[in-house]
Amino acid sequence: MAKYGMVIDVDRCVGCYACWIACFDEHVSVDHMPIAAPQPESGHRWMDVKPIEQGVYPRVHNKYMPLPCLMCEDAPCMKVGPEGAVYRRPDGIVVIDPVKAKGHPEIAKSCPYGVIYLNEQLNTAQKCTYCAHLLDDGWKLPRCVEACPTQALVFGDLTDSNSAVAQRMAEPAIEELRPDWQNRTLTRFIGLPKRLITGEVTLADKPEEPVPGVVVILRAANDVLTIVTDSYGEFEFREMRPKTQYTLQVSHPGYATREIAVSDKDDVDLGAIVLTKL
Ligand code: SF4
Ligand code: SF4
Repeated sequence: MAKYGMVIDVDRCVGCYACWIACFDEHVSVDHMPIAAPQPESGHRWMDVKPIEQGVYPRVHNKYMPLPCLMCEDAPCMKVGPEGAVYRRPDGIVVIDPVKAKGHPEIAKSCPYGVIYLNEQLNTAQKCTYCAHLLDDGWKLPRCVEACPTQALVFGDLTDSNSAVAQRMAEPAIEELRPDWQNRTLTRFIGLPKRLITGEVTLADKPEEPVPGVVVILRAANDVLTIVTDSYGEFEFREMRPKTQYTLQVSHPGYATREIAVSDKDDVDLGAIVLTKL
């Protein structure tokens, strides 16, 4: 028996919304009972694509994070509503039974990731099903994965070690969204946005000139990270630990070394750090 999973490579997502449109095309006003009742024409995003601005102006990056149901192995949505209203199939797919979930709006509020929607017309909760009705008909991929032009979505059988999804799941960079919630999701991510610490180095005696190659060191209790400024004199530390205070040291031959305390805020831009001549 297959066990389905998905890897979402956030760095490959270009925000084209083809997955979102394919999901609409498959589900809006189309009956896939008993797995899914028709999705309403507006208000639902079973495959959402969330724009994310990372960093602090002016040093920001725009990313997009696709977000379907993450198919938790320990699913909070299965703990509410009547018996069998939300169930797990042997292939791992969590399904909301459109009939048993009728009249139970609490199911729509039960997902900590916010991927369940209330169909007010049908008075039932709805969400992504990995297109289980198509898989049951012999399809290999859900519509969203088939539509993605950049292979940002990888889907398949996790029990097949040769499958693309199993191989990507084995990459060191794989991670869960909110692993602290311990829901053990079958959909996992690569490239989730992390804390950024950015800034720029200038010289007091040459304020107009960019200063590439300046050594910038970031230190915390167990971390020492060293980079050099780029051709614009800017630096960017990616994937920094959340809620951690760092000390930044900037040194350049012939100039006084500077040390700066970096706050533990999410993303930090230190602006222009000015070095004075010795
Ligand atoms: Fe349920 Fe939300 Fe987990 Fe999907 S992501 S299985 S809807 S709790
Ligand atoms: Fe991102 Fe692929 Fe969806 Fe386009 S189709 S928004 S690239 S996941």
